Amino acid sequence: MAEVDLHLHTTYSDGILTPTELVDLCARRGLRVISVTDHDSTEGLAEALDAARAHPELSIIPGVEMSTDVSRSELHLLGYFVDYHDSEFQDQMRQLRDGRHDRGRQMVDRLRELGVMISWERVQELSDGGAIGRPHIAQAMVEQGYVEYPRDAFDKYIGRNGLAYVGRVSLTAIDAVKMLVRAGGLPVMAHPSFFVAGYADADVAELKELLGSLKDAGLVGIEVHYKNHTEDELSLFSGIATELDLVECGGTDYHGWGNPDEVEPGAAGPPLETVGALKSLLRDRIAARQG
Ligand code: AMP
Ligand code: ZN
Ligand code: FE
Ligand code: FE
Repeated sequence: MAEVDLHLHTTYSDGILTPTELVDLCARRGLRVISVTDHDSTEGLAEALDAARAHPELSIIPGVEMSTDVSRSELHLLGYFVDYHDSEFQDQMRQLRDGRHDRGRQMVDRLRELGVMISWERVQELSDGGAIGRPHIAQAMVEQGYVEYPRDAFDKYIGRNGLAYVGRVSLTAIDAVKMLVRAGGLPVMAHPSFFVAGYADADVAELKELLGSLKDAGLVGIEVHYKNHTEDELSLFSGIATELDLVECGGTDYHGWGNPDEVEPGAAGPPLETVGALKSLLRDRIAARQG
């Protein structure tokens, strides 16, 4: 059990718990520092910070997760300490959420053409006003008995190579890093294992090259202590972090949909020193901006 979990979702995107329920759960599980990192939304942060006042031993780092495109796949970026009162940043988040809405609707249309008769109304209900994501579509399919677990919906239908997949409004990783930096955030690469699925030497080399270019744009860290990482993955990503001078971050990416590989908040996460390292980088950035 970790003391820190810097990757958690709520009902403001595709998580199942409200910010208050999530914060209460994290406090019960003995966590000391967490970050709420909803997809393309910081709308849940105010409620999370408010809920944390009942738990003085637990502190919250404001966060966000953005989906971006790189040459051959998808890359997710976490942004810590982002200034969520920045109006330009909020405009951008709103546009990304609008894009999610249209794309969700298109995927439901495609599913229906394939005979998977879920309703767009139900998907919207499941998203409860938050950023719509594929897990909401997957859950509608579970409810209607089309698949047993949400991840089965990804395997056949809505995963990147699935029959009903529709791409997102595209945003390059570099542009997203710059966007987060402009809003005062510290960008971190999420779940690098998604990027190097086969762990071929060439893929690892490509990952390092990509991280180098993102670092030049302002990237400060990489998720090392991610849910279900094996010892080999931990040592690979920890080695890369050391080599490229990136902070070792991580967390559980908790959503709560009941997928077989899902773990509870705090089941994985970085050491407390990571939080100190992030805060120190944040101070440096603020000083540089003022100087
Ligand atoms: P979206 O943001 O709509 O592109 O959906 C991405 C989200 O779907 C991720 O953040 C995960 O929560 C979830 N997801 C992605 N792949 C899978 C999978 N194979 N099984 C279950 N959930 C997945
Ligand atoms: Zn998600
Ligand atoms: Fe992600
Ligand atoms: Fe996530």
